Amino acid sequence: MKQSVRLGRVAGIPVGAHWSTLLIMILIGGVLASTVLPQASPGRPAVHYWAVAAATAVLFLVSLLAHELAHALVARRRGVPVTSITLWLLGGVTEFAGESKTPKDEFRIAVAGPLVSLILAVVFYLCVLPVSGPPLIVAAVRWLALMNAVLAVFNMLPGAPLDGGRVLHAFLWHRGRDRARADLAASRAGQGLGAGLIGLGALELILMGWTGGLWMMLIGWFLITAARGEGMIRAAHEGLGGWRIRDVMTPAPDVAPAWQDVESFVDSTALRSRQSVFPVVDFGGAVTGALPLQALTAVPAGRRRDTRVSALARPLSAGHLLSPDDDATRILEPSASRVAGELVAVVVEGGRVVGIVTTADLGRALQQAALRAPAGTGPRPDQPGQALRDGPGG
Ligand SMILES: [Zn+2]
Repeated sequence: MKQSVRLGRVAGIPVGAHWSTLLIMILIGGVLASTVLPQASPGRPAVHYWAVAAATAVLFLVSLLAHELAHALVARRRGVPVTSITLWLLGGVTEFAGESKTPKDEFRIAVAGPLVSLILAVVFYLCVLPVSGPPLIVAAVRWLALMNAVLAVFNMLPGAPLDGGRVLHAFLWHRGRDRARADLAASRAGQGLGAGLIGLGALELILMGWTGGLWMMLIGWFLITAARGEGMIRAAHEGLGGWRIRDVMTPAPDVAPAWQDVESFVDSTALRSRQSVFPVVDFGGAVTGALPLQALTAVPAGRRRDTRVSALARPLSAGHLLSPDDDATRILEPSASRVAGELVAVVVEGGRVVGIVTTADLGRALQQAALRAPAGTGPRPDQPGQALRDGPGG
C-alpha cells in the first residue's frame, strides 16, 4: 500500500496514510455530525456537531493505529521485521519484511490487534458508564466504544487476509504441520467470506435500501481480491523456490537509449521487438528507468520526432536492479517496481544490462516449473501474506 502522507514514526516504524483515509474521515464525520450526534442531543448549533464529529473521527483513526501497532510490536518481538503501517479506506495495513516462523508466533501477532481493539472498546465504554457528562461527548465516546468492538469482532472473522484468517491459518498449520495446505484453506475461507459479505450486502441493499449494503459489498469485494492475490503470490513464491534470476529473465533485451527520439526508437526497435517494456539506459549504459510500449502509443505521430525516450521513461524503485545470481523470488518483494501494471526488474552484470524480468516472464517460468515438477509437487498456493489488512473503516 503506497503511503500518500507520512505521519511520522512510532517506535521506529514508519506510519503513513493512503489518500483514501480522507474519504473515510469525511464519511465518519458526516454520519456522526448529521445523524448520531443530533439524535443524542438535538437542537444545538451545527458547529457543535461538526467539532465533536471531527475529534471523534480522529480518535477513531488513533484506535485503528493502536490496533495496527499491536500487530507490529508483537511481530517485532517475535523476530518478524515490520516495514510500515498504512491507514486507508478500509482500515489499516501492517506490512512485514518476513514471516512468522511458528504457528504460535503467527497466532500471537494476529490476535494482538483485535485484543487491543477490544480493550479500547471496554475502556471507552467504562469512561461513559456513569452517564453524567455532556450528552454530545457521551454519545461520541459510546460510538467509539461500539466501533472498536466492531473492529475487534469483524477482524476475527475466519478468512485471509483478516486477523481471524491468520488465526485459522495458524491453527491449521499447527494441527496439520503443513503450511502450504493451511495457506490454501485460509485463502479459500477468505474468498468464501468475501462472497458471503457481497451476498449479504446485496440482500440488505435490495430489501432495505441501506447504503450500508454497498459498504459491505465493497469490503467483500476487497476480501476476495486480497485473498486471491495472496494465494497467487504465495504460489509464485513456491514455484520459483530454488530458481535464480538468470533462469527466468529474458536475456539480452532490447534497450531504449534515453537520448534517442521516439520516432527512431519506434522504427529501429519497438516495431520489431517482442518486449512490452524496455530498460532505459544513459550514454554510460547505466539504467535510468523503464519504457513501456503503452507510453510510446500515447505520443501522437506528429510529436514523435521531437519527444525523447527519456521524457517517457518511468522511474524504477530502489529494488529494480538485480543480478543474474539473485534468488528468483526477489522479483516478488514488496519493493519491486511496477511499470504500467507489470512487475519489472532489470538484470545487470558488470555494469551492463543482461536481462529483464516482467510479469510475462514470471508466468512463463511458473508454467515451465509446473511442467518440470513431478506430479503432485508442482506450484500450489502457499503461506500467509506479508501484510495484515484490517477493516472495516466505518
Ligand atoms: Zn488486525
